[in-house]
Amino acid sequence: MEQSSKDQSSCLFCKIVSGQIPSKKVFEDDRIFAFEDINPQAPTHILLVPKKHFADLHDGAGDPVLLGEMLARSAAIAHEHGIRDYRLVANSGKNAGQAVFHLHFHVLGGRRMGWPPG
Ligand code: 5GP
Ligand code: ZN
Repeated sequence: MEQSSKDQSSCLFCKIVSGQIPSKKVFEDDRIFAFEDINPQAPTHILLVPKKHFADLHDGAGDPVLLGEMLARSAAIAHEHGIRDYRLVANSGKNAGQAVFHLHFHVLGGRRMGWPPG
């Protein structure tokens, strides 16, 4: 079932941020949380989320400073994991492949990527 931006109590990634659901954390500061994807699509597959709930990228665009921090942190995390070539993905909306409606960036690396994406 799709979640709206107001339906935070049942949001999977809000529960991961709060620790209610366990995850393999790779980074945390006051605004951002990053953890390993449970179903990795590459040797390195990290999800980066804002601690504050936004349903998708469109929703998060109201806070461009936060989006900038997320982009810079994605690059730093990739670098720290030793992946020089990587892909940053934000599926925004169901038809774009978004399954969890809490804004997130995928950091994918460690293998050759195809283009165009499916
Ligand atoms: P989306 O399709 O919404 O862009 O990506 C959602 C991602 O969340 C998927 O890559 C999926 O594997 C990951 N995911 C779903 N449930 C969990 C979970 O419980 N824990 C973790 N760590 N990742 C999850
Ligand atoms: Zn959430």
